[in-house]
Amino acid sequence: MFSTWHTLLAPLPGICQVCGGWPARPVCEACARRFAGPAVRCMGCAAPVPEGLTRCGTCLTRTDPQVLQACTAAVDYAYPWDHLIARFKFRGEPGWAAPFAQQMLQSPHSRDLLVRCGLMVPVPLTPTRLGERGHNQAWELVKAVRQQARLQGLALPELAHPDALVRLVEAPDQHSLSREQRLKNLRGVFAAHPERVTHICDAHVLLVDDVTTTGATLHAAAQALLQAGAARVSAMVFARTPPPD
Ligand SMILES: [Zn+2]
Ligand SMILES: [Zn+2]
Repeated sequence: MFSTWHTLLAPLPGICQVCGGWPARPVCEACARRFAGPAVRCMGCAAPVPEGLTRCGTCLTRTDPQVLQACTAAVDYAYPWDHLIARFKFRGEPGWAAPFAQQMLQSPHSRDLLVRCGLMVPVPLTPTRLGERGHNQAWELVKAVRQQARLQGLALPELAHPDALVRLVEAPDQHSLSREQRLKNLRGVFAAHPERVTHICDAHVLLVDDVTTTGATLHAAAQALLQAGAARVSAMVFARTPPPD
């Protein structure tokens, strides 16, 4: 049904792309609220947690060294966001960055991270993938978050670089793999750009991406930043795959 609506509604300005309501922003306020997802998330990995908790069981019992200081997610990677993200990423519609950024700035936790970090860095694509896609969706989100934060009078990291991290190779398809297998696949995939190391060094870096599934990509990207001398790395994503029922 969604694809039919999409075909019918996409050319029309001012129509909610979820419910078809008019006049509206690309996602009307009612739909943004209805599909906002869990209100409380783990500060370590953005998994949903019951009201009153700040960390999930996995983060509380973690024994390996903490790579990501904190992680926020705006919505669950589920309807309608999964469809909208596909349009954002694969159908040449970078304009979705603005409504997604609006959603990302809703949570106090996200706004707090913007205050505490000094450098925003998108999870990069390989040059080949960037050429095919025409834009890096994560960098579009960085720009949109910064623009919205400025409009809202929020403090934000002083610097943002699209190329502070580079992706050296494309990891093989990760879909059916466990977090451990994904981490293994991602070894050596990211590296800090030599010309950006002075900005990365001693900084609290805020990594930005559109979607996180197991957190393996964020983990690998954060490790590359820490190896380049970052003091801390946190992450802000638009959508997080919800845990299985
Ligand atoms: Zn709507
Ligand atoms: Zn957690």
